[in-house]
Amino acid sequence: MSNIPTLPEELRPADGRFGSGPSKVRPEALQALAATGTSFMGTSHRRHGIRSVVGRLRTGLADLFSLPDGYEVVLGNGGTTGFWDAALFSLIERRSQHLAFGEFSAKFAAAVTGAPHLDEPHVIEAPPGTCPHLQASPDIDFYALTHNETSTGVMTAIRRPAADGLVAVDATSAAGGLPVDPAEFDVYYFAPQKAFAADGGLWAALMSPAAQERIGRIASSERWVPRFSDLSIALTNSRKDQTYNTPALATIFLFTDQVEWLLTRGGLPWAVERCRTSAGVVYGWAEQSAIAEPFVADDTLRSSTVATIDFVSEVSAERLATALRANGIIDIEGYRKLGRNQLRIAMFPAIEPADLKRLTKAIDWLAARV
Ligand SMILES: *Cc1c(COP(=O)(O)O)cnc(C)c1O
Repeated sequence: MSNIPTLPEELRPADGRFGSGPSKVRPEALQALAATGTSFMGTSHRRHGIRSVVGRLRTGLADLFSLPDGYEVVLGNGGTTGFWDAALFSLIERRSQHLAFGEFSAKFAAAVTGAPHLDEPHVIEAPPGTCPHLQASPDIDFYALTHNETSTGVMTAIRRPAADGLVAVDATSAAGGLPVDPAEFDVYYFAPQKAFAADGGLWAALMSPAAQERIGRIASSERWVPRFSDLSIALTNSRKDQTYNTPALATIFLFTDQVEWLLTRGGLPWAVERCRTSAGVVYGWAEQSAIAEPFVADDTLRSSTVATIDFVSEVSAERLATALRANGIIDIEGYRKLGRNQLRIAMFPAIEPADLKRLTKAIDWLAARV
């Protein structure tokens, strides 16, 4: 690695973590966790110490998203992937419709396909870098959207179709960084290792009264549901500030810390604005650059939490990523399966816009030298 040039000090971001998940955890949050000493980690999640933090987390999320009365913040284990299984058991009545426009949105559709208790899902696909549209239909009872397709850097606007049916949004790399109106969804679910700057393993779901009603109806029907995937059990436990089985306590701590950090700074509007500022820095640089350009052609679809940047063929994004990594700037390799000459850069609220500015300069500097 001795032939990789060393970045000048003034081009080094203060924090080199720009990965899209797990993403940068603020050092202050880690210090706060360490400062709990013997009072938090290694104590029972059924007791007041932990439950009070879970209570703060649930209240904080309800505040952050300005949830209307009757909406519930539900928590469970297994991350977003675990929630997909829970949704196919506890939320889809008969037939779902999925917008598939990248790795993650396609994965949920694949998880539902072949489920013996459901009809085959209606999957509407679009090429990476674009986004398909919902097709309102009377035989669909569950519309599956993805707020931000993390693999391609495409963000979408969340709007209900002109039809009945629950609207469920995978918001894993969007929640906490992109705007959303709770009136437009029934379920808005995510895991905290992306825009919430925490660790993985948990899922959180914001649920409308209609979603809770659906869960209750399915739970009292003939359908057999594995208990781990039974959202009626998750709902009951969440209302008591607990989870069905043991959660990762550090994840809960870091997640709560980040939600409260966002709230003290101005909540979701502040976070959305900060991500927009960061996106302006990254896309603005790429548009001016002779070696780079934004991958997503339609600028209204360009994500303000995850940027995908293509490079001209003379510049190898892979070698660039290796050189950046050797200089402490990590995890911005392009999404493997997309197979493009590309870097992918997270712009979550925990990431400083000033660090993104330095990153773009570091890329230019190294691109001219590797
Ligand atoms: C990361 C991600 C997932 C998977 O999350 P896990 O917690 O690892 O299961 C799903 N959907 C989207 C949009 C993601 O970004």
